[in-house]
Amino acid sequence: MDQQTLISSVVQEVIKRLGTNGSAPMPGAPGGVPAGEGAPAAAKPAGPHPIVAHDPATGRFVAVDAAVQMATKAQAQLASAGLKVRDGICKLIKRIVRQNSKAWGKIEFDETKIGRLDHKVLKLELLENIPGVEFLKTAAYSGDNGIGLDEAAPWGVIGAITPVTHSIPTLTANAIAMIASGNSVVFNPHPSGAKCASMAAEVYNKAIKAEFGIDPLLCIMDPPTLRTAEEIFQHADIPLLVVTGGPAVARAAMKQQKRAIVAGPGNPPVVIDETADFDNAAKAIIAGGSFDNNLLCIGEKEVFVVESVFDKMMAAMRKAGAVELSAAAIQKLTDAAFTWTKDHYAVNKDFVGKDPQVLGKVAGLNIGVGVDLLFGETDESNPFVPEEQMMPFVPFVRAKNFEHALQMAIKHEHGFGHTACIHSNNLANITRMGQACNTTLYAVNGPSTGCLGIGGEGYPSYSIATPTGEGVTSPLTFTRFRRVSVSGSMRIV
Ligand code: NAD
Repeated sequence: MDQQTLISSVVQEVIKRLGTNGSAPMPGAPGGVPAGEGAPAAAKPAGPHPIVAHDPATGRFVAVDAAVQMATKAQAQLASAGLKVRDGICKLIKRIVRQNSKAWGKIEFDETKIGRLDHKVLKLELLENIPGVEFLKTAAYSGDNGIGLDEAAPWGVIGAITPVTHSIPTLTANAIAMIASGNSVVFNPHPSGAKCASMAAEVYNKAIKAEFGIDPLLCIMDPPTLRTAEEIFQHADIPLLVVTGGPAVARAAMKQQKRAIVAGPGNPPVVIDETADFDNAAKAIIAGGSFDNNLLCIGEKEVFVVESVFDKMMAAMRKAGAVELSAAAIQKLTDAAFTWTKDHYAVNKDFVGKDPQVLGKVAGLNIGVGVDLLFGETDESNPFVPEEQMMPFVPFVRAKNFEHALQMAIKHEHGFGHTACIHSNNLANITRMGQACNTTLYAVNGPSTGCLGIGGEGYPSYSIATPTGEGVTSPLTFTRFRRVSVSGSMRIV
């Protein structure tokens, strides 16, 4: 059987099983146990297991310990197989996801019910650009005392937590970068995107076994629960955690007594000053803020515009195709999208990642098909400004001047250190905001996605490590540097 036929038959078999045995709702999935932030699946027992096959060759495991044992065995095989095999596996994963992007985008969309189908597919296609073994670099030292080498070595088995917002993309991007650096992984996917994540992992594992004879490198908890996440956090044979998600899981990971790379939440502000190119700014805000209905952690969430150019900027947004909501419509949308609980706003998950047409309906408007983003003027206290709302409505706030806009941007980024954007042709303002915001990503005169190579330069990743400081993760992020020193010999000059 050639490789393409093999991949197709594995995919068909896994999808067929998903359809027949996977019909019971997953915890957290629509119709299943609700998955609120911080309590994704543990609120109730997981119930009957929806996917019955637990052949270790699939990489799906109920027990964390069994997953870690298998991942340990597979990692040893990978370590002895060498760089060429790692490279081959990364290319194989990219090929599989490319061949299945349309079908898998639909499967993820149908399961999670958030975001946009076209962007779910695009996010899978972008995995082609995730860096692989070519990113690993050895530093060499040579002098009178001999030679030294700093080698990028694997950690072993990595414990990874993935979000519902990009379930297959995060699993796949992590898989490529972590395997390139010689590791295996035990994943705890978000319960509301767990079926599609398990399906992709199984397909990758089977294809890797068929082509390279290596056991499941991508072990996955099926079903994932808060308990399995906790067990992964604390497992003695997992030396490194890589966590992608919101505030609760970021806090939980950073409390652990082991190394954690945390890709945490954001609330990216945009500042627009008097010197901006307003048409370009409008296009960029629509591109970044509407991507997958604003589910991206880097996506433009709130805009601060210097008062003297506020009306021009609003006109540019209308001209670029965004639909402006009146104050009354914004009020209706705000009432539906947030609930005041005790002392803070809670985002109503029914509207997270939904289409502008769905948001428009609760605001009393009929929004035409083809409109990507809604916007409107609010003041700073509207919850759309401080909350990471993940909806295709972006609030625009008037600022007295650039400094006022900057101070509001800093305040509403909440010190997450994630992403900030500016539209300006004033170098001093661009520099001042970059320094003052101190975010991991800083997009200047383009969409936030430019920082990940979409409409800008740089390589992509679905895990931007923010509070722990590793930035846009790559294979190098998942290595330990080990030095060998040969004293007094091996130097040939
Ligand atoms: P989430 O925090 O609800 O869930 C993320 C993962 O953490 C899930 O697998 C969930 O089951 C698990 N989890 C949640 N609370 C936990 C706890 N207390 N202990 C152990 N595990 C726990 O996030 P989400 O809704 O899936 O994703 C959106 C959030 O993730 C946003 O805040 C977004 O900014 C962030 N995000 C960040 C990046 C990044 O690269 N920095 C990328 C994607 C998403």
